[in-house]
Amino acid sequence: MEKTFEIGSKSFVLDQTKAEEAYAAKRVINGRQTMAFNLLPLRYQWSYDLYRTMKANHWEPEDIPMQKDVEQWRSNDLTEQERWIIRMGIGYFSAAEGIVGDNIIHVVREMVTAPELKLVLGRHAHEENIHADSLLYMISSLGINPHECEAMFEQIPTILRKNEFVTNVSNSLRRETDLTTPENKKLLAKNIFVFGQCMEGTQFYGLFGMILSLYRQNKFPGIGQMFRYTLRDESNHIEVFRNLFMDLVEENQEIWTKDFQEELRDLMAEAVRLEKEFIEDCLPTNAVGLSADEFTQYIDYIADRRLIGVGLKPLSQGVDNPLPWLAELMDIGKEQNFFEGRVTEYQKASALEVVSDDDL
Ligand code: MN
Ligand code: FE
Repeated sequence: MEKTFEIGSKSFVLDQTKAEEAYAAKRVINGRQTMAFNLLPLRYQWSYDLYRTMKANHWEPEDIPMQKDVEQWRSNDLTEQERWIIRMGIGYFSAAEGIVGDNIIHVVREMVTAPELKLVLGRHAHEENIHADSLLYMISSLGINPHECEAMFEQIPTILRKNEFVTNVSNSLRRETDLTTPENKKLLAKNIFVFGQCMEGTQFYGLFGMILSLYRQNKFPGIGQMFRYTLRDESNHIEVFRNLFMDLVEENQEIWTKDFQEELRDLMAEAVRLEKEFIEDCLPTNAVGLSADEFTQYIDYIADRRLIGVGLKPLSQGVDNPLPWLAELMDIGKEQNFFEGRVTEYQKASALEVVSDDDL
């Protein structure tokens, strides 16, 4: 018997028995290993949908003009605090984007078995490359010494600690790891939770908030624009890892113990603590429109959203969002003629995908 299957707008006729077998053999981990990229039939529809959304949001750094940023960087109108935030932003993300990309390529994409999961993870890794490239573009436009940025990553203790926190859950996992034991399954679940919800989902948001707060004051419009695009991408990355985590747990329920749930909440608490220390480093004094208290409160707020998103109890409960404008800045689709460049062309006929406020 034959049956029609759909991927996006394309339809395929498959032998029903074979299709059912292929479907049944698909798993987040420990599924059928195949050299063929058999996306059909889709088991993880969300991964294909997110892949399409991410593709539609494609952007290239060089499409964003940097003249105004360069003028401002060279002028005397900036405070030392403002320069410091830009340096911290470029310094931290230059390495952080690489760490995320490396973890996807060498750990997560290697360990999952369903092809549609590998598909979206390939796109995710590529977006980290775009982000890394955008930082290069900022560095070269402003004429910052790249070694200085590198040194920041090696010398600033709050950056080092954030770094160690994530690489700890990455180092022990590699393609050969036996994922049939509950202990190793937990290691992978921890990795996916830490990278998606703690790092990209929470620890990226201190600097996002600060840089976009400058952007709101018409400072560094090019850099701000790139961070807006990056933030929109990150919200999809968080969603990729959230779905991946939920399906991994769903298929391996033996790992979802009270103890493990508490361990994950503890990891988030640690992530929040590290991020608050980092924010203090970024904002040693309160500058115009930038209050460290607001940013630390935002971290509590966003961390709880991430925990709730994966079915865990929040840590601080009932914290208000002190930066509601951040969600609006990410809603790029609302703007008209916002960008006359290639991004619009990449969209082709498809409408610009708008990320809802729920992701912030
Ligand atoms: Mn990124
Ligand atoms: Fe990301």
